[in-house]
Amino acid sequence: MVSRNNSDRYRLNAHDRGYDRRWKRVAREYLWRRPWCIGCLAIGVKRKAQLVDHIVPHRGDQTLFWQSANWQSACAWHHNSIKPELERQFASGRITHRELHLESATAVQLTRERHRPAVGPDGFAIAGS
Ligand SMILES: [Zn+2]
Repeated sequence: MVSRNNSDRYRLNAHDRGYDRRWKRVAREYLWRRPWCIGCLAIGVKRKAQLVDHIVPHRGDQTLFWQSANWQSACAWHHNSIKPELERQFASGRITHRELHLESATAVQLTRERHRPAVGPDGFAIAGS
């Protein structure tokens, strides 16, 4: 079964290829200038950012989507594990939009709670992971 979300995303991609291409180019350029995940940097870990995250969810709002002040470099872990929790707290009014930054106090606290450094074969954490 295809969820409603998936079919909406598919429709957007199929009908708006130029828009996708433009975003890909702009995001690549942004990551070239800001290659490190800012959420990881905030706890002293240097990890390559894999994507450009919209700080305040754009929900189709074109202005918010294209505003570079609303972008942040993120690793997949921050995007998939920390950001959804921040967005939940934001949606329920527990935090302001400023705390949606991956280097905000709330984000850093969540990162510290959930981050597990990679463990080497000797059982010790790998420095900087
Ligand atoms: Zn990260």
